[in-house]
Amino acid sequence: MTTNCIQRPSEKYRANIFTTGLVAFPGVRHVKHGKYAPLIEKSLELGGFPSDLPGKEILVGFGHDAVLDVAEKVINLVKAGKIRRFFLIGGCDGAKSGRNYYTEFAEKAPADSVILTLACGKYRFNKLDFGDIEGIPRLLDIGQCNDAYSAIQIAAALAKAFNVGLNNLPLSLILSWYEQKAVVILLSLLYLGIKNIRLGPTLPNFITPGVLKVLVDKYNLMPITSVDNDLKAILA
Ligand code: SF4
Repeated sequence: MTTNCIQRPSEKYRANIFTTGLVAFPGVRHVKHGKYAPLIEKSLELGGFPSDLPGKEILVGFGHDAVLDVAEKVINLVKAGKIRRFFLIGGCDGAKSGRNYYTEFAEKAPADSVILTLACGKYRFNKLDFGDIEGIPRLLDIGQCNDAYSAIQIAAALAKAFNVGLNNLPLSLILSWYEQKAVVILLSLLYLGIKNIRLGPTLPNFITPGVLKVLVDKYNLMPITSVDNDLKAILA
């Protein structure tokens, strides 16, 4: 584990993982100063997997430069009514139930919508086939959670092209959180004035009723409900 999130490792494999850099966890061995010998020894001891599973290729790499390269085509498809809406389905995955919402949302998003993904939650559904709209893949993966920056650049460029504010774009943000980094990203989005974010699968415990009121009143932040309800409300 290097710079991204770590959750409490199961006892079963606690001895098989290592941390380095910024990440650490009680009871997990930490590699310092590049001294990887214990990790290499453990890897050799474990012996690896007896065989590989068949691979599946997926298209990645839609950071803002790549998407903005085809911005004109995307804008023309929006103007022609061939792309009705963009859904940014981003955020964390986790083990608790309720996270199927995001897969179901992607599956039920209408065929004339484009799904932008970023961060860990997408691994549940990014191997599904979403097809394309006149050559633009319906699922465009922007990258990791840290690439929320890229998503904002894409949104800002679209807003400029359509001469509207960020909140008036045909774009809905459907986010999942798991830990503090995702919360910091959410705060960045709020700081940029982004409204109408749907957040789940539950609201963070530290959101007190008073804070929730501010988030709802000022940013219209909404907890997710059911996919059918939320899609209906968004597309209305
Ligand atoms: S998406 Fe969430 S769990 Fe994954 S690296 Fe980012 S903050 Fe961590």
